[in-house]
Amino acid sequence: MSDETLISQIQRFSINDGPGFRTNVFLKGCNLKCRWCHNPETQSFTKELYWKRRLCVQCGACFDACPNEAINSPVSPEESNAEGSTYYKIIKENCDNCMKCVDACNYGALEIVGKPMTIEEILDEVERDDLFYKNSGGGMTLSGGDPTAHTAFSDKLLIAAKKRGIHVCLDTSGFGQWESLELLANKSDIILYDLKHIDSAIHEELTGVPNELILQNLSRLVDNGSEIWLRILVIPGYSDSSEYHRKVVAFLSTLSRPLDRIDLLPYHNWCEDKYSWIGRKWDMGGAQALDPADIDYLVDFYEPVARQVTIGGSGFEAEN
Ligand code: SF4
Ligand code: SF4
Repeated sequence: MSDETLISQIQRFSINDGPGFRTNVFLKGCNLKCRWCHNPETQSFTKELYWKRRLCVQCGACFDACPNEAINSPVSPEESNAEGSTYYKIIKENCDNCMKCVDACNYGALEIVGKPMTIEEILDEVERDDLFYKNSGGGMTLSGGDPTAHTAFSDKLLIAAKKRGIHVCLDTSGFGQWESLELLANKSDIILYDLKHIDSAIHEELTGVPNELILQNLSRLVDNGSEIWLRILVIPGYSDSSEYHRKVVAFLSTLSRPLDRIDLLPYHNWCEDKYSWIGRKWDMGGAQALDPADIDYLVDFYEPVARQVTIGGSGFEAEN
């Protein structure tokens, strides 16, 4: 039987995850738990349910269909949608992911997140946009979750992608064993490497893990000769001061060569809805979205340690 793994989404026509038009393949499962994660449904390694509060008319069909008493009884739509309502449809502890409720819902309010797919199925989907890749220098971006948390599958997927002539970016937090990262990096054209925070204690507070391994792996990847696009998230109150960025530059100056590219990514909170769909709270307090213009001044900081610096990371700026 062919290998398969859970994919949370295959997203076409991305322009911010490597050069040209990209198809992002999101593996389900990550070893980090970043508080601001834009794809919180990729953190768990198992299938999950989306419950979309605004689409739910509280008809009760899912309640009747569930064999495990894992659905809360209906309330009025007004009550469930009221500001600050804590009502959530699914009782996660009781749910065994049988998905009978999804079939019972006629309003599209319940959705399965996590589809088992084989390597062939994934690449057939990716190849649908082959023409766009050829015209733009694009390809597939393997993301997550984190590919290093799925090393064996990711390795086979990358080998198969290269056989089909697909350009590949590997999007990683870098929090994996060096052997895994090296294996995957050597089969990828570009590494999109995320730097979440330069201070290890704050990194752990924000993501659940310290950053020493991540910084060490970055240094080894640089020595390995990989093409690296470092993605630095700028979050108000955590990583938006000049002092913070001086520290990052000081670390990058210790690497054996300048990075190929640095993308400064202004924080946004467009993903808040997804947290409510999986029954989680958005935990970034009042951090406000940053306007890209607010961090323009940082480009000068990073020019000595990278061959190119962008705000926002558009895949088309690299071609200019
Ligand atoms: S997936 Fe199955 S167990 Fe879980 S809430 Fe739906 S019907 Fe109940
Ligand atoms: S079946 Fe769908 S619309 Fe009806 S209560 Fe359940 S989630 Fe809401």
